[in-house]
Amino acid sequence: MLDNRGVWVFIEQNDNQIAGVSLELLGAGRKLADKLEVPLAGVLLGDGVKGLCNTVIEYGADEVYVIDDPVLKNYRTETYMAGVYKLCQMYKPEIFLYGATPNGKDLASAVATDLSTGLTADTTMLDVEPESRLLEASRPAFGGNIMATILCKKHRPQMATVRPKVMKALSPDQSRTGRVIEEKIGIKEEDVRTKVMKIVRDVNKKVNLADAHVIVAGGKGLGDEKGFALIHELADVLGATVGASRDVVEAGWIGHEYQVGQTGETVTPKLYFAIGISGAIQHVVGMKNSEMIIAINKDPNATIFDVATYGIVGDALEILPKLIEQFRNAQK
Ligand code: FAD
Repeated sequence: MLDNRGVWVFIEQNDNQIAGVSLELLGAGRKLADKLEVPLAGVLLGDGVKGLCNTVIEYGADEVYVIDDPVLKNYRTETYMAGVYKLCQMYKPEIFLYGATPNGKDLASAVATDLSTGLTADTTMLDVEPESRLLEASRPAFGGNIMATILCKKHRPQMATVRPKVMKALSPDQSRTGRVIEEKIGIKEEDVRTKVMKIVRDVNKKVNLADAHVIVAGGKGLGDEKGFALIHELADVLGATVGASRDVVEAGWIGHEYQVGQTGETVTPKLYFAIGISGAIQHVVGMKNSEMIIAINKDPNATIFDVATYGIVGDALEILPKLIEQFRNAQK
């Protein structure tokens, strides 16, 4: 079993659109495959998805394993698990990565159970030790107080789910070439117990923190809802999206969909304002990959300054009205 070779990435697609996290994982997988000197493969299941193979190769894969069958039109644990299990049994990868999306998590745990192997969930860092060929999958543990690096020494493939927006996709390279390997699922629709009767899309989601370019996030340091209104005001002036720490959400100043961090969204904007936010690890894991971070805090020793590009030490309730006024004037 420990002779398994190759790094695989599950290519999640919805309505024949590849999920962003799968492209990010091809970027992360490329580094692991190069270190181990093995091919990187994408695993693509669906109905009418063969046309997506080129994209998978452009984003870093050397190979794409495809199962293209009408029975795979919509994600169902039973059919996708059977297809992925079959491919693993036939080609024996040593590492297999999935996006930590609802479907990715569901599939990875089902496949891990069937293959009797280990799975590290919600990984935020990946590396590999070339000598032992062990995947080092790190994630926050014990309430986020420590980072744990988890190894799977005795079973293969070594599997991990990774949150969207944590890894970086490579720039697509249209000159890349790769091999496409087609397999059959061997399951008929009448044999599948789960039927998709209707798909109802959630049209209520108004906040899209994950794709925001500028986020103005506020914490408990704003004092109360009235203070937090300054966050909305600054975001308005900048055309930015509002974010919040968990303590603000728990205080009921704003909904959970605005929460950034370990139990909220992971974000990677070009600019992240952290205002009146202490910089607890559970918040920082969700925003530390922002391109530029501007922190405002009245405590010069606040840990948020450890990850900030620029820091302003002072009272946010005094600084924010001035900033808002300056930005307003600049726009006139
Ligand atoms: P505080 O810790 O109260 O910090 C307020 C900050 O504001 C302080 O640094 C203070 O110096 C500063 N301040 C005070 N007054 C002013 C002022 N007038 N002007 C400027 N600065 C001022 N947290 C998250 O954010 N996201 C998560 O996803 C998350 N998940 C968690 C998961 C678990 C399992 C656990 C245990 C915790 C989680 N937390 C999360 C909570 C986290 O540990 C912190 O408690 C939280 O981030 C603190 O929020 P805060 O920084 O807004 O508040």
